[in-house]
Amino acid sequence: MTGGAPARRPAGVREVLARGERSFSFEFFPPKTEAGERTLWDAIRRVEALAPTFVSVTYGAGGSSRDRTVEITRRIGTETTLRPVAHLTAVGHSVAELRNTVGQYADAGVRDILVLRGDPPGDPRGLWVPHPRGFRYAHELVGLVRESGDFGVGVAAFPERHPRSADWDGEIRHFVAKCRAGAHYAITQMFFHVEDYLRLRERVSAAGCDIPIVPAIMPATDVRQIRRFAELSDAAFPESLARRLQEVRDQPEEGRRIGVEYATAMARRLLAEGAPGLHYITLNRSTATLLIHRDILGVTSAGDTPARAGVH
Ligand code: FAD
Repeated sequence: MTGGAPARRPAGVREVLARGERSFSFEFFPPKTEAGERTLWDAIRRVEALAPTFVSVTYGAGGSSRDRTVEITRRIGTETTLRPVAHLTAVGHSVAELRNTVGQYADAGVRDILVLRGDPPGDPRGLWVPHPRGFRYAHELVGLVRESGDFGVGVAAFPERHPRSADWDGEIRHFVAKCRAGAHYAITQMFFHVEDYLRLRERVSAAGCDIPIVPAIMPATDVRQIRRFAELSDAAFPESLARRLQEVRDQPEEGRRIGVEYATAMARRLLAEGAPGLHYITLNRSTATLLIHRDILGVTSAGDTPARAGVH
């Protein structure tokens, strides 16, 4: 298929959530190599068959992948039946550059943007220095995107608190500022304990903000990933799951089975607790997340259904 958006484009995430329907989505990142591109498009095509609410494409650390993120998002919008959500980070860009990128998304037919502050290039925990003509916090970028057109706007939420937040009061106050600036919904950072999500939701609701918060699901299928997760977030990794993955570190199939089992049980509990949907982090390899999603939709055979797996 070339040019123009396909006719069968699904409804936007904000409409789906506003109608009280569940949103199911898959997250990809822009690869740096041709082999990585092939893996990505293979994963996107497999996800397409399940007609999720949307797929999203991340924006590289420090704002580094702008052109690749825009191009992949555009191609998803024009060459597939999927609805793309574009990540956009404030870090490293002037307001004029951000306005320009929002314009590029609009020209490409992208109607949904996940607005983020982004982390500094290099060390994500390093000193955060705003661009001299840029923004300091995500809520400012939310305002810019909302005034730039009729975009559905998502923002980030942190079940275990943002690593830079000193306390929960500040964390929730700043989250609510993103709602007040016009965010329609939020997607969480990865996390591994359902209670953390439930407590965040309660805190946000008590502060008078009622936007839907979609939990992220990140299946951990290999003990070697755990260090990487710690670099990406402060998510506390369950010791029992780490032990089980360690025991099967040289058996990839068994690692996947254990990781999928844990994440599926977590996803089921989140939905039972009223979560408005699930956002699967694929790392561009859709197999594990598709196994979870098929199970959630009830399209696996009974024998494949993972049991509850010690989810907290
Ligand atoms: P903000 O909401 O601005 O918050 C950042 C920190 O500043 C928090 O501690 C907050 O409490 C504090 N704060 C906010 N406002 C104020 C204020 N007025 N005064 C004082 N303190 C304040 N990163 C990428 O680089 N690319 C991506 O594609 C990407 N995708 C992501 C997707 C999801 C679903 C999530 C959860 C995160 C993603 N990230 C991505 C990571 C994110 O950019 C970082 O975690 C970043 O550090 C925080 O972004 P934010 O939008 O929450 O920032």
